[in-house]
Amino acid sequence: MPIYQYDCGDCERAVEIFFRSAAKAADPRCPECGSARLQRRISKVARVRSTGQRLDDINIAEELGHLESKDERGFSRWAKQMGDKFDGELGSNFRELAQKADSGLNPVERSDVKFTLENSIRRAKEKQSDSTD
Ligand SMILES: [Zn+2]
Repeated sequence: MPIYQYDCGDCERAVEIFFRSAAKAADPRCPECGSARLQRRISKVARVRSTGQRLDDINIAEELGHLESKDERGFSRWAKQMGDKFDGELGSNFRELAQKADSGLNPVERSDVKFTLENSIRRAKEKQSDSTD
């Protein structure tokens, strides 16, 4: 259920409105003065984000930008970073890939890091849609 923040154009208060359905969110009124002149605020804290939404928010280009070089050391550093950030959430194995690269095993995932990252996100999303919550 969404919670949105607005700035009211009449009483100039910042208000939070909790909607029971998406349909009701189409016609918000200020809880303080009843005005319909509400300006939506973009708030990161007010929104209760699902795992699915968090997965959508992962900026692949930005994460790939952390890859300083494509050699094994560069890959290992990057994979460690991705592991700290994502292994818990995505169920990915970036830390393991980093260890492989460190011990000279040259994991196949190094050859296309973009695919490796996208694939981890995709698999996590599939797991999401399989679960019934
Ligand atoms: Zn108001």
